[in-house]
Amino acid sequence: MHEIQFAEKEIATTEDKILELMVNADARDKEVKAAQAELKAEAAEIEKEKIEARQRTAEDEKQLVEWRAKRDQMRAGVNEDLLRHYERVSKFRGSGISEVRDHKCMACQVMLRPQIYNDVRTGQQTVICDSCQRILYFNPANEMQALEPEHKRSRRHHPKIDAPQAWYYRAEFGDAGEVFLCMHNAGGQASRHVFDVGTGRLIGDILSREGDFRQAFPEDVTGAIRLNGSWSEKEMENWGTEMPMTALDSLHADLEAARYEMSSRTTAKAEKPAAVPTEQAAS
Ligand SMILES: [Zn+2]
Repeated sequence: MHEIQFAEKEIATTEDKILELMVNADARDKEVKAAQAELKAEAAEIEKEKIEARQRTAEDEKQLVEWRAKRDQMRAGVNEDLLRHYERVSKFRGSGISEVRDHKCMACQVMLRPQIYNDVRTGQQTVICDSCQRILYFNPANEMQALEPEHKRSRRHHPKIDAPQAWYYRAEFGDAGEVFLCMHNAGGQASRHVFDVGTGRLIGDILSREGDFRQAFPEDVTGAIRLNGSWSEKEMENWGTEMPMTALDSLHADLEAARYEMSSRTTAKAEKPAAVPTEQAAS
């Protein structure tokens, strides 16, 4: 009896173990299936990337052939000695040509002698940089840019439309001539300061009217050039009857920038229609 009991217990334990193993096998099976699906997706992704890479390579190779043909065609038009010089320098320095800007070789930054600079500008003969041996060339468009003052090259900051304080320039203001106007909105009131453009002196009284300055002083704002400028009311009270030189200078600088901006805008517009008849004449 005792032996039978022992054997039955043994059987039960073994059956439990079998059940446990079966459950585990199920879980493993699921994991294997998930991993297989992931592998399949990844393989498809890699295949897609391979196709893209092959297309890109084909496109690059096509362009390479085109560029090589263009290069050969252009080289055929260049003096042989000059080509040899170009090859030598470009092998040694990584580039064989250099732009000249503002009297300088842009590659080695060495200043050119005036005669050399003129020769490069006129383009009548080939000029080589004394210091780095690169062949020099000149691009008038870039030279113009190098000569422009800093503030003209960088884009002008534009004043905010809804700022409570606004500065304007007027070419004519009654007997006063050129003036800077400062408009200020505060507590439903608009105030107006008028300053002489040359001296920065306050002209006349500070006027106050009801409402927003655009409604209160429409005749002053219309046709005036809006400028950048912002000084607190307290600061302006401290100015008394004359604005400080720093303020006057900054208004002048911004006026110059604004005028330059307007002139470049109008010339850009003016050039467009002019190009049409020339094109027609050429064809
Ligand atoms: Zn150089």
